[in-house]
Amino acid sequence: MRFETKAIHTGQQSDLSTGAVIVPVFQTSTYQQEALGKHKGYEYSRTGNPTRTALETCLAELEGGKYGLAFSSGLAATTAVFSLFGQGTHIVLGDDLYGGTYRLMEKVFRKWGISATYADVDDPESFERSITAQTRLIWIESPTNPLLKVIDIKRLAGVAQAAKVPLAVDNTFASPYFQNPLALGADLVVHSTTKYINGHSDVVGGALVVNDEALYNELKFHQNAAGAVPGPWDCWLTLRGLKTLALRMREHEKNAKYLAEFLSRHEKVVRTYYPGLEGTRDYEIASKQMRGFGGMLSFEIKGGVPAVERFLSGLKIFLLAESLGGVESLVSYPAKMTHASMPEQERLKRGITDTLIRLSVGIENCEDLKTDLENALLDS
Ligand SMILES: *Cc1c(COP(=O)(O)O)cnc(C)c1O
Repeated sequence: MRFETKAIHTGQQSDLSTGAVIVPVFQTSTYQQEALGKHKGYEYSRTGNPTRTALETCLAELEGGKYGLAFSSGLAATTAVFSLFGQGTHIVLGDDLYGGTYRLMEKVFRKWGISATYADVDDPESFERSITAQTRLIWIESPTNPLLKVIDIKRLAGVAQAAKVPLAVDNTFASPYFQNPLALGADLVVHSTTKYINGHSDVVGGALVVNDEALYNELKFHQNAAGAVPGPWDCWLTLRGLKTLALRMREHEKNAKYLAEFLSRHEKVVRTYYPGLEGTRDYEIASKQMRGFGGMLSFEIKGGVPAVERFLSGLKIFLLAESLGGVESLVSYPAKMTHASMPEQERLKRGITDTLIRLSVGIENCEDLKTDLENALLDS
């Protein structure tokens, strides 16, 4: 079976007791046991729930992994991973990453005695240099947020294997439709299912996918012991969104490519960041490891912060909002939104300037989207 078919069928057999074609919302916290120690695989819904199982099974399959785990948010999934390590350990993270992951590391895990080094995602050797005897994990995103840089995952997996350190890849921006990090040598895939996987901006959720049984058991233990699980309704909505992931991603990409080309030629745009623009190093790496370039792009506008403000208020279809990956187009301003929790100096060092604007390109008509950008740029 291929991707589109798996997204609709894997883990989602018709209901045995009724024939219902769609996996029901098993809105129950507990399960009757036939006798002491005798049950049908479910005892309590923090530990396991059949709607969640369907989602976890399907996600694992789409990532080409053996085991999937669903969480109540992307950051809850990240917390489960960071919690594998104890006091005195060290994590190497790519330096262009989701602001919330940075905040979790700096404001939560540092307190518990876990240290971190941020390696330059433009320089693969800086990951090697950052590894110490205490390093237990390498963590990256690719494409990165918000600069859409592409990291050579296979190459970094080689570095990780040589150092005997697992590699985790946050695959939220690419989605499993465009990229499967496990096949490129990563050990762990992380998702904010809030984004493309659910795809309709109506659920917050997260997921992990792994191949290694021991690693799965540790993460599964944490999922149950710490308890940041999604409810059955959220799992059901996410499964419904997942069924159309392939269709949506194809359209997101088509529109993003069209708008990236438009912006890269526009006189009011200083620079456009989109891995699908030919002639860059990111394009070369992305063409090797991804099956498409995704629906996210960023650009820098001329005219400073006042121009940013005029541009943002001139948009009619693109909605000014956090998040990404939904069917509707969103615009965000990383300096004041997703990366507001990062100190200004750190933010500027990473290239997230005061004139950087990020677009999550939706699946509306691409001419309407272009006209919207065109008009707002005229006003800026
Ligand atoms: C949104 C996001 C997260 C965090 O996920 P939540 O579901 O908001 O907790 C992590 N990584 C990336 C790349 C994201 O975009």
